[in-house]
Amino acid sequence: MSRLEYEKHRGICPIHRFFSELVRHFLGHPTFFRSFLLYLPTDYRMKKLFLLLAFGSFLAQAQIKPAPPRAEGDGPHTRLIIRGVTLINSTGAPPVGPVDIVVEKNIIKSVRQVGYPGVPIDPKRRPTAQPGDKELDCTGMYLMPGFVDMHGHIGGSSQGTPAEYVFKLWLAHGITTIRDPSAGNGLNWTLDQKKKSEKNDITAPRILAYTAFGMGSDSPIATPEAAREWVRKNAQAGADGIKFFGAEPDVFRAALEENKKLGLRSACHHAQLEVARMNVLATAKAGLTTMEHWYGLPEALFDDRTLQNYPADYNYNNEQHRFEEAGKLWKQAAVPGSEKWYQVMDALLALDFTLDPTFNIYEANRELMLARRAEWHDDYTLPSLWRFYGPSRISHGSYWLNWGTEQEIQWKENYRIWMQFVNEYKNRGGRVTTGSDSGFIYQLYGFAYIRELELLREAGFHPLEVVRAATIKGAEALGMADKIGSVEVGKLADFVIVKENPLANLKTLYGTGAIQVNDANEVVRVGGVTYTVKDGVVYDAKKLLEDVRNIVLKAKEEENYEITQPGLPQKRPTKTQGAGK
Ligand SMILES: [Zn+2]
Repeated sequence: MSRLEYEKHRGICPIHRFFSELVRHFLGHPTFFRSFLLYLPTDYRMKKLFLLLAFGSFLAQAQIKPAPPRAEGDGPHTRLIIRGVTLINSTGAPPVGPVDIVVEKNIIKSVRQVGYPGVPIDPKRRPTAQPGDKELDCTGMYLMPGFVDMHGHIGGSSQGTPAEYVFKLWLAHGITTIRDPSAGNGLNWTLDQKKKSEKNDITAPRILAYTAFGMGSDSPIATPEAAREWVRKNAQAGADGIKFFGAEPDVFRAALEENKKLGLRSACHHAQLEVARMNVLATAKAGLTTMEHWYGLPEALFDDRTLQNYPADYNYNNEQHRFEEAGKLWKQAAVPGSEKWYQVMDALLALDFTLDPTFNIYEANRELMLARRAEWHDDYTLPSLWRFYGPSRISHGSYWLNWGTEQEIQWKENYRIWMQFVNEYKNRGGRVTTGSDSGFIYQLYGFAYIRELELLREAGFHPLEVVRAATIKGAEALGMADKIGSVEVGKLADFVIVKENPLANLKTLYGTGAIQVNDANEVVRVGGVTYTVKDGVVYDAKKLLEDVRNIVLKAKEEENYEITQPGLPQKRPTKTQGAGK
């Protein structure tokens, strides 16, 4: 009797065993797999079919294609001189120029003011190029530190986004560092990409891996001791931190404490399932570094209730319920300017707590058509991603079961209060960072980050404060402010270089540019990042975008696919009538 036959005889489903071993072997996440075994149908044949389908989708969910070897970018150079820029250094200083910047390998060696606006530059004031030096003429362009995306999921196979696609979209929008909250493709996968990015072996931003709490554990983490052990293992494995969604309070506190003791950082999306037990105030006190999105903050601000006003028929797994009711949440919190409002804000400020609002990811809630019809979808959104975004009772963040005027109006009000809190927090010395959470809810990698900058501006940030939130504030929250986040001697050479003045119009940072009408009354596109420099490697941002367009074009050709709006039929190729082309 073979082992399979034996197990079948003994009533152990060999299919279970086979797949669970396969999963254990290849993916190292047996817990995840076991948890869905609980939901199996009882009929054996159905079970087999279900398992095959589930395994396929699990595999598909598990990982995306890693980035290919780097074929783009110029450098790092022994010596690189960037000439003639107007510098926004992100220390809070106003723009200044013209400036020449000298980089050796990946380190900024000098930042020199070389003249005055409107006056020819005296060459004697400029750093001289030695033979072999690389000079980059950026006369008249603006230079900022590379952007930090604090909430950058590197896609997932549900979205069908190869790493190359995600990385190039990020770099093309000036993003040189990302924090991967959850390491959704597996910690080892993320660490592999992180190492390759460090060596510039792939075209990618710098990566920080924050493992989802409990990921890879054989059994549920139910005790503080188990939490501490998992945290230690996570640190040993090389993770940079932990992403939480909430946990039993003793377990959560133990994990936060141990993590902090080891010098690692943490992020939390306070999911509604757990937020009643630990809101933002509780997690911040326990040592959490950053809160993601906004959940947990209104709950900390409750002064006439202890729970969100859930209707009787609410079901968390019905995402229309989840997101529709969330749109009424800020109104249930303490009134802006009230004693409670400041009491909570002051407590968070005293803890040096970081808000990572990710405003953009909820924008479809207040204006679904805006997010859905964003012009970049045409050329830059993969068919698989478009399908993932589409209304569904299953895909996360696709809850447009019946989304209309009433929901959007609620959300507009929700944003007003939320933005007021975030802006006041910044004004009173609090740290606010920039995160995108792209790949969900019609928000596309890179483009959504620029949208986030616009929304910080809308919240009341001065454009220079927006740039700081996008750079040095993120660096501080990551514990990397000594290396990145501002343009200063000794720091890493991460830059965003643009032709247009970003302070005048943040839209010029979109890969699709901004629309203007020139003196000849012609409509023109201006902007888009010109160069992104990461670790001293100069990337042609427009070329990266072209690569992405080609990836999308190829995917569409393979499927004969055209993006259409939800509820409308897929467009079929039609015969041209008498067009003569
Ligand atoms: Zn996220």
